[in-house]
Amino acid sequence: MSHYNRVALIGLGLIASSMAHAIRANGLADEIVGHARSTETRATALEIGLVDRVFETAAEAVQGADLVVLCVPVGAMEAIAREIAPHLAPGTTVTDVGSVKQAVVEAVAPHLPAHAQFIPGHPLAGTEHSGPRSGFATLFVNRWWLITPLEGNDPAAVTRLKDFLTGLGANVDEMDVTRHDLVLAVVSHTPHLIAYTMVGVADHLRRVTHEEVIKYSASGFRDFTRIAASDPTMWRDVFLTNKEATLDILGRFTEELFMLQRAIRMGDGEKLFDYFTQTRAIRRGIIEAGQDTAAPDFGRSPTTTDPAKK
Ligand code: NAP
Repeated sequence: MSHYNRVALIGLGLIASSMAHAIRANGLADEIVGHARSTETRATALEIGLVDRVFETAAEAVQGADLVVLCVPVGAMEAIAREIAPHLAPGTTVTDVGSVKQAVVEAVAPHLPAHAQFIPGHPLAGTEHSGPRSGFATLFVNRWWLITPLEGNDPAAVTRLKDFLTGLGANVDEMDVTRHDLVLAVVSHTPHLIAYTMVGVADHLRRVTHEEVIKYSASGFRDFTRIAASDPTMWRDVFLTNKEATLDILGRFTEELFMLQRAIRMGDGEKLFDYFTQTRAIRRGIIEAGQDTAAPDFGRSPTTTDPAKK
């Protein structure tokens, strides 16, 4: 299993704190150091033993590290890259966890010295929680971690990083940057936008229906609200930086929606039935791939979901 002497986590939120727990649990580094912009986050990280040392600046945090992981929102990556560039030791691997790859490559790669290896990455794992207390060691277990190696990357550095990510429990795959952004627009970015919209629509209705939307939310809407509770900064940055792919998928989504709308208007039950049969098969595929549970209602216990039954 791959091992680094010192891992520097820049940004100490959900992803970084989960990495810190998983690195410790699996013995993947001698030392973990970190930086976050606020005094509060830095103090919390020390208090809960997330990192061995914290630094006020990213520049100080990366000194002497052989692995640097950028765990800040996508929109903050460029400023961090500029700041750390002069302080990276020869041979240091720099990776990131940003949800968008093309924009991160454009923001980071030009600023880093040739003697560092920038290997972009993205864990397909997360929750709707944020901050240094939200992480847990098993977040990445059996989840995909996509890396998008760049031309000129040292194959040995790529292999070492892949081994390290595997050590965190992830399944690692390589992907081209553009392909990554399109695939993520389909499986993550557009679904989030739809969830945000659906919750927004319900919020308008709530004013009409006097809280019934909240009261009876168990039937599907609740799952939209979990997604729509995701971090606003992160998701603003995703849509600002994965604009083309998201607009492409949204266009296709709107066409499908209009088609279904027409089927409903025309009473075309056959079309609706066929469509829903096809989508059900996709759900089965996800379960077979081990990416979700087959248990009814995502494995929730009725006592925790239905206050009336408590
Ligand atoms: P998070 O919990 O909100 O933490 C973000 C961290 O970045 C905080 O420590 C924050 O510091 C720091 N930060 C924010 N803006 C900064 C700035 N301008 N300069 C320096 N530091 C800054 O976020 P997260 O969920 O871990 O997400 C981090 C990255 O992971 C993002 O790029 C996101 O796209 C990616 N990602 C997230 C998920 C997910 O589901 N959450 C999944 C995969 C990938 P303070 O606490 O001091 O404000």
